[in-house]
Amino acid sequence: MGRYIGPVCRLCRREGLKLMLKGSRCESAKCAMERQWRSQPPGMHAWRRRKSGDYGVRLREKQKVKRYYGVFERQFMIYFRMAERGTGNTGETLLSLLERRLDNVVRKLVFASSHKAARVAIAHGHVHVNGRRLNRPSYLVHQGDRITIKPSERSQKFVRGVVGDGGPPVQSWLQLDAQRLEGVVAALPTREDVQIPVEEQKIIEMCSR
Ligand code: SF4
Repeated sequence: MGRYIGPVCRLCRREGLKLMLKGSRCESAKCAMERQWRSQPPGMHAWRRRKSGDYGVRLREKQKVKRYYGVFERQFMIYFRMAERGTGNTGETLLSLLERRLDNVVRKLVFASSHKAARVAIAHGHVHVNGRRLNRPSYLVHQGDRITIKPSERSQKFVRGVVGDGGPPVQSWLQLDAQRLEGVVAALPTREDVQIPVEEQKIIEMCSR
C-alpha cells in the first residue's frame, strides 16, 4: 500500500484549499493556508505561472479529491469504474463511494484527528465494525454498520483523548455516541454530505478520456 510521505501542507497550497490533513493544526493560526506568504502554490515563481487550460482545471479537480480522501490513482480509478457501472449519476456515486471509506468515516466520527491518524488507528486494530476487528482503511461502510473502538484500555484512552466526553457534532448521515465511543452509519452519504468544494463533472470528463 503506497502512501504519501511528503509535507501535507504543500498539498493544500497546491490545491488552494484547506484539505484538513493535519488534525488540530488545521484549525489553528499555524495553518499554512492562514498565512498570506505561505498560502500560495508551492515552488519558486508561482506567481509567474500562466493560467491553467481545460486539462489543468480538470486535473486539479481530480487531484483535490484524491488528496482529500488519501487515495492514489489506481484505487481512484477502481472507484471510478465502480461508479460508472452503477445506475445513478457517476460523479455523485463516485463521491459517495469515497465518502464511505472506513478511514473517512473514522475521521468524520472524530475517532481520529486526521485522515492519516484514522488509517493508523484502523491498521493497528483499534477500530471494530459490527463487533469485528477490521484493519482495512478502504472498507466501504454500509447503512446500519456499527463502528466501535476496541474495548482495551489503551485503545479507549487513545480515542477518548480526541473525542472528549461531550463529543463533537457529526454529519447527518452518521450518529455518534461519544460516551460509548460508538458510531452508526444511519444512511449512505449523498452529494450534499461532501465537505470540499468540487466539480465532479470535470473529474468525469478527465477520467472518461
Ligand atoms: Fe492544510 Fe491542515 Fe496544513 Fe492547513 S494545517 S495547510 S489545512 S494540512
